[in-house]
Amino acid sequence: MKGKFTLKDLPYLLAEKSDNELYTLAEKARRETLRFFGRTIKLYAPLYLSSYCRNSCAYCNFNATLDTRRNRLNIKEALHEANVLNRQGIKHILLVSGEDPDHISVDYLQGLIAKLKEKFASVSIEVQPLETEEYKTLARAGLDGLTVYQETYNRKVYEQVHRHGQKKDYDWRFYTPDRGGQAGLREISIGFLLGLADWRQEALALAEHADFLIKKYWRSQISISFPRITRISHSYSPPYPVKERDLIQLIIALRLTFPHVDLTLSTRERPELRDKLIGVGITRMSAGSCTVPGGYSETLKASEGQFDIEDTRSIEKVSASIDKAGYEPVFKDWEAI
Ligand code: SF4
Repeated sequence: MKGKFTLKDLPYLLAEKSDNELYTLAEKARRETLRFFGRTIKLYAPLYLSSYCRNSCAYCNFNATLDTRRNRLNIKEALHEANVLNRQGIKHILLVSGEDPDHISVDYLQGLIAKLKEKFASVSIEVQPLETEEYKTLARAGLDGLTVYQETYNRKVYEQVHRHGQKKDYDWRFYTPDRGGQAGLREISIGFLLGLADWRQEALALAEHADFLIKKYWRSQISISFPRITRISHSYSPPYPVKERDLIQLIIALRLTFPHVDLTLSTRERPELRDKLIGVGITRMSAGSCTVPGGYSETLKASEGQFDIEDTRSIEKVSASIDKAGYEPVFKDWEAI
């Protein structure tokens, strides 16, 4: 088996493998991860700002057509939530919201980001896709990163699961990372939602997308996440459920194809799996997450979360697991000067 892999090798890496073959590739992935990232796992936490959304993605609890109890934090409440995370050591924060500019506007984000940068080393957003100029405005306020998942690269499936709102427009979403790159954002995270279409086909499309972005926006760090539909509260069954073994193979394949790219695994996955993947390819994890706007403070209004969390451990417990695996949990790896 060859030592180095490129995009051309991805079909081979994604093809059916025996347990022995997968184990050998996992060891290679472990060595590559160690070579580029050392024994470290970066930690961050999401901060949900609002569950109001104009779209109706079939797989999401914030879907506008559902009778969901919703909430939107004002800036004071959002800062209160952020402080709860900050006191537990979190220095990298991801602001998440449903896609509704009436509830989460660029002005709102601008004010909030500027305030958060007084306490956090980096602030990223996962909100409605914006124009390049709007990303530039937020970058001036201190925004570091953008997360935007294409959900599926299969246009037919995309059309079936995104029936209303601006998200219907595949191309508008597809070119969002480009607009972030043009705005000079330091980090851009992409991914697809595992479960909507054949994961091997999706992985090939994602890898081409990542390769293009890495080459074109070389000043930005491109990273890849693996959001997998495990279970959600309302009735939606993913048409192409992805097994844990498939997820592991996907992570190994992308690590070997892109040895220098951060790979992120969220609390959608169960603790045992997350612990097993420390060092195999994953370099970044969320911890102590809550997908309910206002969910970190006991005083704020109760509403519903976007999806159920599988790893409900505290930030402290996730850190301890990383430590036990012989890796260092990293809360801060960046500071703007
Ligand atoms: S996935 Fe995002 S855009 Fe779609 S309904 Fe949920 S919050 Fe809205």
